Amino acid sequence: MTRPFLVVGGGITGLAAAFELATTGHGVVLVETDRLGGRIRTERVDGFMVEHGPDSFVAYRPGAVRLAEAMGIGDEVVPVVPPRSVHLRVGGRMEPMPDGMGMVLPTRIGPFARTRILSWPQKLRAVADLVMPRVLGDQDMAIGALLRRRVGPGVVTRFADPLVGGIYGASVDDLSIDAVLPMLRDYERKHRSLVLASLASGHAASRPGDSKGSPFRSMRGGMGQLVDALVAELEARDVPLRVGVAAVSLSVGPDGTRVGLSDGTELDVAGVVLAGGAPSSAGLLADVAPDAARTLRQVRYGSTRSIHLGYDGDAFDTPPTGHGYLEAGPDRAPVTGVTLASRKWPGRAPEGTVLVRAFVPDRVGPAAQLDDDDLLDTVTAHVGGVLGARREPRLRHLVRWNSAMPTYTVGHKARADAVAAALAGTPVRVAGSALNGVGVPDCIADGRRVASELATMSASALPA
Ligand SMILES: Cc1cc2nc3c(=O)[nH]c(=O)nc-3n(C[C@H](O)[C@H](O)[C@H](O)COP(=O)(O)OP(=O)(O)OC[C@H]3O[C@@H](n4cnc5c(N)ncnc54)[C@H](O)[C@@H]3O)c2cc1C
Repeated sequence: MTRPFLVVGGGITGLAAAFELATTGHGVVLVETDRLGGRIRTERVDGFMVEHGPDSFVAYRPGAVRLAEAMGIGDEVVPVVPPRSVHLRVGGRMEPMPDGMGMVLPTRIGPFARTRILSWPQKLRAVADLVMPRVLGDQDMAIGALLRRRVGPGVVTRFADPLVGGIYGASVDDLSIDAVLPMLRDYERKHRSLVLASLASGHAASRPGDSKGSPFRSMRGGMGQLVDALVAELEARDVPLRVGVAAVSLSVGPDGTRVGLSDGTELDVAGVVLAGGAPSSAGLLADVAPDAARTLRQVRYGSTRSIHLGYDGDAFDTPPTGHGYLEAGPDRAPVTGVTLASRKWPGRAPEGTVLVRAFVPDRVGPAAQLDDDDLLDTVTAHVGGVLGARREPRLRHLVRWNSAMPTYTVGHKARADAVAAALAGTPVRVAGSALNGVGVPDCIADGRRVASELATMSASALPA
């Protein structure tokens, strides 16, 4: 009998890997310790749509849109509600993102010159990049370190840290160029000046200030809709989804590949996709590939807290407009950013109400250490004050994500390559946010890629 593949972890990566295997005619079993969807979870609370984890994905990385289309729910992918409106809060003032501003660099000089987000000395410091020699050698470097040298601290604190740090839940002074923004290396190599390269490219990393339209998409029924559709698809194909069961041991030898499960059973499998995160994968690889396990243990994880506040419309004299804002200093706020979910996405809140979502990652400082009640009080007071709420919200909902955000620190790309190299000759692959991209589209693409790689390997190992 042909042995099935095993997928460890029922987050979006593992589900996408199982989908790839099942739809290409391979047997597959998936085990999930906790709940299908992993970090993706959509909950309806008092009529408000609460996203525990991701609320959207970018369309220019095609993994998520392609998967939705493959499952026949491409028309459930929704764009943000127009008009697009992104703000930075600087010194207590709301400033619109300058048109053509990317995550770290301008693609148009006029709006950059006119913005009030940077002072004139900060703008002049940024254009010093035009005449500066190359800074990057062969080694990886922190994004913050490169940008401070090339375009100065103003661009780092006002743009790069709020925008890039907001996505990765970490400071740009910790994040790696090669793993997070490799285009910066290309820019410097090809054009020497990052600003010149960005102006020449005419487009930016994730185009936060691109007037042509937002790259962000979500699912009409929330991100959980993607998970529900995947689960239904796998169930329709009779893929065993064993929830409440953990993979606890792994051995690879001449007799085959064997996985021990927490229910006491063992499975002989054709190959294994490890999609349970770095610590989980490191534990399972301890004997099979000790070097890969050691490298995986070096991947740091940060924590964050997601808070939803739901207001009646008449809690405001003037209900807030726009899609939300990011805090860009210089004063320290207890949140890094606020999404006006009911303005940004269709169908997120009952008619006439306002749904707001705020993030409290570790890097906000003391607020991240508060207990639930104090944290909710602090965030409600701060966000309510900024948005001009006169009354308390009728919904206050907190989700804690402890050690949930992999931080791609300097050297991460080399670590990811080392893990892949160590496993190349084995029927085991690590996939998902631990190594090759934290965004939902990247996780999906990675899960599908390693699944198809294992399937090809296993087919070529069969006797002719
Ligand atoms: C608060 C928050 C907001 C985010 N926002 C966005 C966003 O807006 N857009 C975006 O693109 N990305 C966002 N992300 C990132 C994105 O959600 C994640 O990178 C992605 O969902 C990770 O998917 P995964 O399948 O790799 O891992 P997970 O979702 O963590 O799934 C791994 C699963 O494996 C299981 N598991 C672990 N070990 C074992 C074992 N031994 N046996 C069985 N099961 C095991 C776990 O229980 C878990 O369910 C956000 C993340 C967070 C935390």
